[in-house]
Amino acid sequence: MSIYLDHNATAPLDGRVLEAMQPWLTGVHGNPASVHRYGRAAQAALETARAQVAALVNAQPAQVVFTGGGTEADNLALKGVCGGAPSGRVLVGALEHSAVLGPAVALAKRGWEVEYLPADAAGRYDARALERLLAGGDVRLVSLMLANNETGAVQPVPEAAAIVHAAGGLLHVDAVQAPGRIGCNIGTLGADLLTLSAHKIGGPKGVGAIVRRGDEIHLLEPLIRGGGQERGIRAGTENVAGIAGFGAAAAAARTQFDVEAAHMKGLRDALESGLKSVSKNVVIFAETVERLPNTTLFAVDGMKAETAVIAFDLEGVAVSSGAACSSGKVQPSHVLTAMGVPPALLRGAVRVSLGWGTTKVDVERFLGAWRKLASALSKGRQVAA
Ligand code: PLP
Repeated sequence: MSIYLDHNATAPLDGRVLEAMQPWLTGVHGNPASVHRYGRAAQAALETARAQVAALVNAQPAQVVFTGGGTEADNLALKGVCGGAPSGRVLVGALEHSAVLGPAVALAKRGWEVEYLPADAAGRYDARALERLLAGGDVRLVSLMLANNETGAVQPVPEAAAIVHAAGGLLHVDAVQAPGRIGCNIGTLGADLLTLSAHKIGGPKGVGAIVRRGDEIHLLEPLIRGGGQERGIRAGTENVAGIAGFGAAAAAARTQFDVEAAHMKGLRDALESGLKSVSKNVVIFAETVERLPNTTLFAVDGMKAETAVIAFDLEGVAVSSGAACSSGKVQPSHVLTAMGVPPALLRGAVRVSLGWGTTKVDVERFLGAWRKLASALSKGRQVAA
């Protein structure tokens, strides 16, 4: 039987999520905009989910805007805040996901001045560098992630928020990888806008949310126009089943995160000591800073990530190389490049990301596969694909 250790790419659908979705997938279920009982029931399901997602990040339900996933929410944050003006300055982190980098490039094409916050060798943003960039003039929006999807490095978001606010800017935080793994409270983080995605926490794919700190945070330019759904910020009949599933996933992530985070960290620590005991020269990226409890990104000199991922797959172990959200193209990770990782390791990074259902046996299976791969590498031959 194969084992799945790629939860940062997507997590398995939780049983409770499926149960919450089922009534909205079969039989007659109304349009939430309809006034009859079917419509009202669908509307009630949306509002239950809205309260569950809000509770996950300690926000008010009215501040949750459902979207078609994390990528859409990131686009909405950047284009929604900046789109109302023809030009200005925006700052995005060099470690951000393409869901943030893409809209930043689009803003630059429209005449916005876009600058990138550098990261240090450990994979974290530096607050002093943020201060220096903000001193360069009015910045409308800063976009920084809470936890990196490749290394798992947790970013100094509350510190950054204080600096951004002192400079008169707004802070958008892509928190897609955080819930169920680390605390994710919009107030404690100091975020003005927060991105969430259902499928990283056991919910369905294609559902996410942008959460506003309050009504004073305006998303001036909706990405999708049409009806007045989601307070006019995101038009279109809502994905009721998906949103109900997102709500159930959020409720599970909120109530179980302490226990599950400790469970994953125990297994991840065992995995990392196993990796090191097999190969003395293994490099674990962002090892010296706070990381998500489920994530290990590692490399050894001479290993090619794409070949290693196939070798693991042949052993029945699903892991990933670099950013799994990209189109399967082999290109050096922009995250590791921003960290100044040397070329010999850049193409060899393999990401292992554990989930709530991961067991000790799974970690042992992974380490067994690693022993074989490491021995092939040490014999100096390329691993057969
Ligand atoms: N932001 C981060 C940090 C991610 O890891 C991902 C997905 O991997 C996204 C945004 C995009 O989310 P979605 O897959 O829901 O579009």
